Amino acid sequence: MSDLHCKTLTELRGILDSKQISAQELAQHFIRRIQAHDSTLNSFISVTEDAGLLAAQRADEKIAAGQAGALTGIPVAHKDIFCTMGVKTSCGSRMLDNFIAPYNASVVERLNQADTVMLGKTNMDEFAMGSTSESSYYGATKNPWDTQAVPGGSSGGSAAAIAAGLTPIATGTDTGGSIRQPAAYCGITGLKPTYGRVSRFGMIAYASSLDQGGPMARSAEDCALLLNVMAGFDARDSTSSEQASEDYTAQLNLDLTGLKIGLPREYFGAGLDVGVAQAIDAAISELRKLGAEVREVSLPNSELAIPAYYVIAPAEASSNLSRFDGVRFGHRCDAPKDLTDLYERSRAEGFGDEVKRRIMIGTYALSSGYYDAYYLKAQRVRRLIADDFQRVLSEVDVIMGPVTPSVAPNLGESLKDPVAMYLSDIYTVPVNLAGLPAISIPVGFAHNRPVGLQVIGKAFAESRLLNIAHRFQQATDWHRQTPPAFK
Ligand code: GLN
Repeated sequence: MSDLHCKTLTELRGILDSKQISAQELAQHFIRRIQAHDSTLNSFISVTEDAGLLAAQRADEKIAAGQAGALTGIPVAHKDIFCTMGVKTSCGSRMLDNFIAPYNASVVERLNQADTVMLGKTNMDEFAMGSTSESSYYGATKNPWDTQAVPGGSSGGSAAAIAAGLTPIATGTDTGGSIRQPAAYCGITGLKPTYGRVSRFGMIAYASSLDQGGPMARSAEDCALLLNVMAGFDARDSTSSEQASEDYTAQLNLDLTGLKIGLPREYFGAGLDVGVAQAIDAAISELRKLGAEVREVSLPNSELAIPAYYVIAPAEASSNLSRFDGVRFGHRCDAPKDLTDLYERSRAEGFGDEVKRRIMIGTYALSSGYYDAYYLKAQRVRRLIADDFQRVLSEVDVIMGPVTPSVAPNLGESLKDPVAMYLSDIYTVPVNLAGLPAISIPVGFAHNRPVGLQVIGKAFAESRLLNIAHRFQQATDWHRQTPPAFK
């Protein structure tokens, strides 16, 4: 079976349970693919072959004993922002290049308990700051559809690894788009859950009021299976929601007749690439055929989202990253003269340019005299944006639009102009500011690169989003396309 990397989780479950192959053989298949292709893509920071094969052996014992769950023996890759006990957890930074996590993130623990097989840790923008995965200390990840292009970021390693068939599923995190945007650029499916749905315990903090972990996979159905394990209350995360999680596969097949879709005027205006707009329009037409009703809506404060986000996220980051000082955590410089020298050089050496830029912006915005003008003002704008969504989502079931204004840029382009890179987050960051769930699904190509449709829902409407995505994927085959160079 040479096409194991093109199978869905349900297909893989059948193959494992009927003992056509073992979990160990399945893990070996993916490890061989990583060895063959990752020198081109650079989607992994660490490959955990030995631990993975051991986990696969335990999974085989469970399967033999008839105790297999939905994910027993399924290979998974974790974004290198999740702490993995005994395994390097770098967050894409030189600062944590020497950090072996002493415990597992809750997400990792849950997936271990579900008998998944960890293949390794995926590449990412340093501390999840970026939209291209180029700010990684370990070098840029390439897009499997076109190795001249970025895979998006910050969860670019996870997205590229799935698109290239180096892992069937992966974890990601989304502070301002980092699951949805790389999913869109790589032609896969990614869900950012409602804030508080997935535990942040053991997930290295970027901007705590925005960060949220979520599933990345080839299809909505696979995302649902992964979310089933990831979601749920966690007493170790004070912002974790106590609302009961669901079986996210239960409503996948609901009929879409009468579904009310709102298309925000502000998401289809100037700046949207014509090719991207065409792919989105075609997807909306397809959903109409499936019974959905479409109407125009307005999110009037959308244009304020980027300035608000790029104050709030760096402000929180500057505080969160203060722990990396060479004493409590992180890289320590050689032969410091005194304590100030130790702090200064450790941080100067440990952090890259983008992280330093954010720490400076955040420290400035929070400094006395500027707090009211920037941070407080941004928090007020955040409320206006959340209110816009609430009003519109009381009139329609979901909001749809593009994930990004254009397709994946070429490597190097965004490094020249960080502000242009920030502006490309225009359709994703409002959702984080409002704490809502949103999914990105592949809906075609423009300029030979993948295009993603974004579906935004009410708080805790993950099942509905997965249902819509699944019905769309039953009717189309964009999610089944694979990059020619990685068949
Ligand atoms: N591109 C955004 C940023 O750089 C979002 C990153 C993220 O979601 N982690 O902050």
